[in-house]
Amino acid sequence: MSVSSSPQEVRPRASSRPANDWRLLLSLWPYARRSGGLLVVSLLLLVPLSAASAIQPVLVQQAIDGPIRLRDLAGLSRLAGLLALTVAVQLAFQSVQGYLVQKVGQQITATIRQELFAHVLSLPAKFFDRTPVGRLITRLTSDVEALGDVFATGAIGIVSDLFSLVVISVTMFSVRWDLALLLTLMLLPATALIVFFQHRYRVANYKVREELSTLNSILQENILGVNVVQLFRRERFNARQFHQVNRRYVHQVDKTIFYDSAVSATLEWVAIVAIAGVLWLGGRQVIAANVSGVQGSGLTFGTLSAFVLFSQRLFNPLRQLAEKFTVLQAGFTAIERINGILDEPLEIRDPEQPRSLPAHGRGEIRFEGVWFAYKDEDYILKDLSFTIRPGEKVALVGPTGAGKSSIIRLLGRLYEANRGRVLIDGVDIRDITQTELRRHVGVILQDGFLFTGTIKDNVALGEPYSLEAVQGAARRMNVDSFIRQLPQGYLTPVRERGSNLSGGQKQLLAFARAAIRNPRILVLDEATASLDVGTEVLVQEALEQLLEDRTAIIIAHRLSTIRNVDRILVLKQGQLVESGSHQQLLDQGGLYASLYKLQMLGQ
Ligand code: ADP
Repeated sequence: MSVSSSPQEVRPRASSRPANDWRLLLSLWPYARRSGGLLVVSLLLLVPLSAASAIQPVLVQQAIDGPIRLRDLAGLSRLAGLLALTVAVQLAFQSVQGYLVQKVGQQITATIRQELFAHVLSLPAKFFDRTPVGRLITRLTSDVEALGDVFATGAIGIVSDLFSLVVISVTMFSVRWDLALLLTLMLLPATALIVFFQHRYRVANYKVREELSTLNSILQENILGVNVVQLFRRERFNARQFHQVNRRYVHQVDKTIFYDSAVSATLEWVAIVAIAGVLWLGGRQVIAANVSGVQGSGLTFGTLSAFVLFSQRLFNPLRQLAEKFTVLQAGFTAIERINGILDEPLEIRDPEQPRSLPAHGRGEIRFEGVWFAYKDEDYILKDLSFTIRPGEKVALVGPTGAGKSSIIRLLGRLYEANRGRVLIDGVDIRDITQTELRRHVGVILQDGFLFTGTIKDNVALGEPYSLEAVQGAARRMNVDSFIRQLPQGYLTPVRERGSNLSGGQKQLLAFARAAIRNPRILVLDEATASLDVGTEVLVQEALEQLLEDRTAIIIAHRLSTIRNVDRILVLKQGQLVESGSHQQLLDQGGLYASLYKLQMLGQ
């Protein structure tokens, strides 16, 4: 576990150019379409809602200029009743509309989360080499959440605010064009300011998400590597490193808060100026009309009141529009980051027309002129060719970094050769499905990862094996008696990453995982961890059992354990330098002989 990256190295990649909003919105379309019916209904409900809101000031105007001025009680009751009706419509539809929108939103985010999870699990090993886990987790959790917020806070109702603005404007102009024009003119600079602040907000928010990813990566790395942190007294150093990232994060969050507040303040201010403007212009007209006594061309008290209400109502949707825009902007950033992962190509794909391995094949492995690099032209394996006959047990030997693990990763198709071919029973592994490949090639890695679940689950790994089958495999692998001693036997829960099991026990469980699947070929990264003598014997016995009748490639770290393999391939810097039995290679007096002598000396 590396916790040694300096603060400079953990700076996020500065790609702070937000992408085009419309393109981002369009990328949601396939998801929205699945919940199409609900979405349409929730949008249609906006029509009566906006109409009710726009009509209320007109009703007030009618009441003041009509019944109130004429002292007509019956008329007044009628108008008050109508006003109450519009309020009732608002109350009734608002909650239904809000509920539907959120429901659609949750459906969409759930689908996206699901798709993201499946996609991430299918990405090639190369992707995980360059992506910190914390960064990925941030995308899978808080970015998806930010997208969910768009719906939860009703930001999708931004359409309704736009609609309200249009309905109110039309109503306003039909009542009195000059006052309506005044209000509209005031809207323009306000909108311009808001657009400006929103843009700044968006940029700052993108950086916030990046910093959060970095923060989470460091958290995750330090928690996973907590033993190293404590053993090497890195607490203070790592805390300082964390402090820097934490400060950068807060600084970016501050910026978003600033731009967000700036939008609210602008709106507050413009709304008050607008009311003042209406009172000034409208008030003069009311006075002029009263002085001249001509009612027709002047302005009535009712209309003036209606316009004070209109200016409130006009800026309210604008305020909400701005607030929702803020959430929406965060949502856009989230979509952008989510798309970043969904757009990652699945480099290792199944062929269009897969072949299957010959039914009678017995597990011949052939590497033909294989070249392989983790990145660019930095070749780890260089023109490697060898054949392993069916049933043969072969050990890979060589100094650290010679490319042994890389060979088994290629065989398991976790990575793909840059040039050359890998064949099993005469078939290129790229021509068969990954399921078929994994069925026939059992890989036992040094780090046999254990999942949360029971011992049985960890052997079956999702396949429908019966308890008896699991027990059978465990018995063959010498781990049955140990499992029976556990509090709940096979149903004992495995604690996170198997912390309640010893190294040897985990290894035997990993053997059982492979044994139950009965693969033709077995690939084994022999553990370097030294086991106690008792367990060592159990592991050796289990291994011999497991290897019977199978082709096997073993990466040997302790040369003493591979004396009885059929052949030893000696690698050096990605090239095959020697090949033969233990005795032959000793007699040759080459690299193997010197490695062996060194190890014997050490013991
Ligand atoms: P061995 O198993 O013989 O110790 P490996 O196959 O693990 O050797 O590694 C061969 C070389 O490839 C080493 O130089 C190592 O640094 C490099 N390497 C291994 N894994 C990766 C990876 N995921 N990304 C980049 N380089 C890697």
